[in-house]
Amino acid sequence: MARLRIIDLLQKSPSDDVITVSAWVRTFRNNQFIALNDGSTNNNLQAVVDFTTTPESILKRITSRAAVPVSGHLVPSQGAGQTVELKASAVEILGDSDPEKYPLQPKKHSLEFLREIAHLRFRTNTFGAVFRVRNALAFAVHSFFQERGFLYMHTPIITNSDAEGAGEMFRVTTLDMDNPPRNEAGKVDFSKDFFAKSTNLTVSGQLEGELAAMAFSNIYTFGPTFRAENSNTARHLAEFWMIEPEMAFYELADNMDLAEEMLQYVIAYALKHNAEDIDFLSKRLQEEEKQKPQNERSEMTLTEKLQFCLNNKFERVTYTQAIEILRESNHNKKKKFQYLVDKWGVDLQSEHERYLVEKHFKKPVILIDYPREIKSFYMRQNDDGKTVAAMDILFPGIGEIIGGSQREERLEKLVQRMEEVGVPVDEMSWYLDTRRFGSCPHAGFGLGFERLVLFVTGMTNIRDVIAFPRTPGKCEF
Ligand code: ATP
Ligand code: MN
Repeated sequence: MARLRIIDLLQKSPSDDVITVSAWVRTFRNNQFIALNDGSTNNNLQAVVDFTTTPESILKRITSRAAVPVSGHLVPSQGAGQTVELKASAVEILGDSDPEKYPLQPKKHSLEFLREIAHLRFRTNTFGAVFRVRNALAFAVHSFFQERGFLYMHTPIITNSDAEGAGEMFRVTTLDMDNPPRNEAGKVDFSKDFFAKSTNLTVSGQLEGELAAMAFSNIYTFGPTFRAENSNTARHLAEFWMIEPEMAFYELADNMDLAEEMLQYVIAYALKHNAEDIDFLSKRLQEEEKQKPQNERSEMTLTEKLQFCLNNKFERVTYTQAIEILRESNHNKKKKFQYLVDKWGVDLQSEHERYLVEKHFKKPVILIDYPREIKSFYMRQNDDGKTVAAMDILFPGIGEIIGGSQREERLEKLVQRMEEVGVPVDEMSWYLDTRRFGSCPHAGFGLGFERLVLFVTGMTNIRDVIAFPRTPGKCEF
């Protein structure tokens, strides 16, 4: 028998057909009303049991989180907020849940506490909504690219280069850590390791993505990425998921258009398909914000913020313009930034990004043309000799959500830059082949999936939008 989902049942009309709903007990009131939930929605289906005919031995086992198939038929509901309820004819207990021992009590728990019991937190309304939205966003990402003829590519998880230079890497080895083989210089001899060389977990699939784009024109990756960066922030994970499209015959402006269109598409998708969850999260956030002083509360609700992103073009600004804005800002003059902005060339901190987005432009911003010294070697050099065709997309509450660029397609310029910054040209010969044989302008970007989920759910800590977060000092479950 096909399983009946509560989200569908709540839309149904009363009927005499006997059905069985398999779900878990949320609450049981007055020895009569069971709130049933199966995770398809935060809304519960109310089942009404007849306590005069149901054995006492069953009634006392209808506890919070017990697994209970309930049979009966749908009748008009007397209660508010639902049109039907299940008039139960039989209740079975598949799995008991001892209310004395069950860690999730029917009260509000802090997100910090729930992080400690991440294996159970899916069962709460907040995490139910978050993970359904996450699911919808992942699907929307694929839809967006597939509708446009992009090829989904799987790049390797184990790599041997840190050419990307995107961050600290996790080593992958099968060597005996207590007694590793050593070479004459006394260094660990990785030629004896599994791959006969030193290997790591990938920090980005971009370089491999570029190789494929030079054959398929438009590709994207969507896979796990690992960075051993010891930054214990609310926006960094050691293991996160990244979406990296790469497009041949694209210049920076095309890249920006695509990124903006993609973000708007996936946000619109979630707003349409997860309206109830987003509405729930929006109200949750409003409650949360009441704890804050008035001037720190956001001016818009979550739903308004998402709508706003759909209805407004992102502001496109050069790094040079942004530095001027920041340097002249009262915030800078009154030394309210932790890192003061004093000269052209400095890297922007999250506080600067957020100032530009939240205080100055009050909308998403695409920052372009960064100094080449603070960006990767593969970014296309601009004619001014100082900047590269990079783009970062900055979002309210998040800071950087996307980092990308037009790639340097000119072989000599690329090799020259690699030599300047010390990227081994010989080892990267495979990468340079794209520039040797049929090189063309191309561009791409990386979207951190969890940062997108953070934005759309209005959660504030990235640990709360991935099922089992990996962060410095924490690898549970
Ligand atoms: P940041 O400055 O915020 O650390 P980054 O410059 O290191 O970001 P990129 O190397 O450009 O970021 O990576 C592309 C995207 O991947 C970023 O825009 C961001 O959305 C996401 N990202 C990067 N590092 C992390 C991380 N540690 N955890 C989660 N997402 C990340
Ligand atoms: Mn980083």
